[in-house]
Amino acid sequence: NVSKKYRINREKYIVALENIHCTIQKGEFLTIIGPSGSGKSTFLSLMGLIDRATEGDIWIDNQNIIHFSDKQRTAIRAQKIGFVYQFPSLIPTLSVVENVTLPKIMQGNYESTDTKRAADLLEQVGLSDRLQHLPSELSGGEQRRVALIRAMITDPEILLADEPTGALDPQSAFHMMELFRSLNNQGKTIIIVTHDLGLTQFSSRTIKIEKGILV
Ligand code: ADP
Ligand code: MG
Repeated sequence: NVSKKYRINREKYIVALENIHCTIQKGEFLTIIGPSGSGKSTFLSLMGLIDRATEGDIWIDNQNIIHFSDKQRTAIRAQKIGFVYQFPSLIPTLSVVENVTLPKIMQGNYESTDTKRAADLLEQVGLSDRLQHLPSELSGGEQRRVALIRAMITDPEILLADEPTGALDPQSAFHMMELFRSLNNQGKTIIIVTHDLGLTQFSSRTIKIEKGILV
């Protein structure tokens, strides 16, 4: 029964999500579809502990995180969740490989082997010759792949992605979804927001949101 209201001023607020009730099993590959403005990104940001619900409870691994402090939420996010934002949002002054290892540094458990692991993961998405490049030297699709690898470097159990194939050509989008599928085959829980109905064939379940309501 999760709701999210964005307050605009003292009298006005926008209801982005209303009484959402949803259970996602470990190891599921879920796609969330719905028109623009329906609340998909809001839903994902609540699940990713990036934003707070206005009402309702959110349970992750038998823990109700709703009353967790920011510090506790950050810890859960760092341990369990990888988030691929709608826009790649790479750090412009860091190289590709530095961007990818940044979450390990933020977690406080970076080891020198992580750079090797980052290089291996980047190779899997065809970026082995881009390790030392800056984000501005990459195409949009390449930046998205880097953002995906950055979300994977901590080996999270749960991977959330907001329109990860947006602005990709059909072939790159297909390739990106194959990547998610192989991660799912490795046991990761994958939750993807998309408005491309063609991509739902990759997932094990699709849910639809309309005007903030799960339909
Ligand atoms: P979607 O991802 O499905 O396009 P969003 O979750 O981004 O939808 O937005 C749902 C609704 O909440 C929209 O009406 C949007 O304008 C509104 N909204 C999103 N973020 C904010 C915010 N930070 N402040 C106010 N309104 C917001
Ligand atoms: Mg959105």
